[in-house]
Amino acid sequence: MKIISYDDLQQAEMVLSFGKQKLTVSVFMIDGLLIDTGPVKMKAKLIPLFEQWDITKVILTHHHEDHTGLAYWLQENTEFPIYIHESGIKDCENRTKLSFYRKVFWGDREPFQPIELNDTITTDNYNWDVIHTPGHAHDHVALFNQEKGWMFRGDLYIQPTPKSLFAFESVPEIITSLKKILTYDFETYICSHAGVKVRGRQAIEKKLDYLEGVQQEVQSLNNQGMTSHAIRKKLFPKSHPMHYLSFFENSPKHIVNSILK
Ligand SMILES: [Zn+2]
Repeated sequence: MKIISYDDLQQAEMVLSFGKQKLTVSVFMIDGLLIDTGPVKMKAKLIPLFEQWDITKVILTHHHEDHTGLAYWLQENTEFPIYIHESGIKDCENRTKLSFYRKVFWGDREPFQPIELNDTITTDNYNWDVIHTPGHAHDHVALFNQEKGWMFRGDLYIQPTPKSLFAFESVPEIITSLKKILTYDFETYICSHAGVKVRGRQAIEKKLDYLEGVQQEVQSLNNQGMTSHAIRKKLFPKSHPMHYLSFFENSPKHIVNSILK
């Protein structure tokens, strides 16, 4: 685990591997606010950090186990309120039904009881807007720090030109959410997997362009009578490593299907 300081932001970056595949995930701490808790797999490293950091509240960007794995521990051992978008509360209260590789990669998440997020929150020095941005997860939120002009997002960026998605993800919803955050005045963008991007606005615009291009292409091929299977073969002929790693749960077919739905 690597601790990176950026201005008054602290980032704990973790790299987890499964065979040759590596995944990076971070938790962030700024002005007493802990953003995400990391996966339970990193418990031994993260708990000493949580004990050392001066945390006053916790916000979860969405319910996935790589972001919420230690929320149960924080709830049992501290008094900090733990917030999530209202549509994610049920997911957190229930036991997970994770697929095998997600269990192996991140570890299972214990149930806990988060509190519903409002549209805005405050910390000692900052005002934050909470922006509901579904597409990667139904309860996903972005956090906009008004004073700094920084945009925090969990998993909506990750990489600019995705060629594969999970079944629970949706290209049209991601497009709507990216457009929504671009209405805020930010340059720096902070992603749970890609870290701090100083030219973050550009990166978001690039991803939006790419996804809109894919959407148009899929729709026009479909209008010409091509099946979703044929469209996938034409646009995404190569398999992505995540396809195998996830035992085919992560696939380009979800890009095509979410557009044609
Ligand atoms: Zn996620």
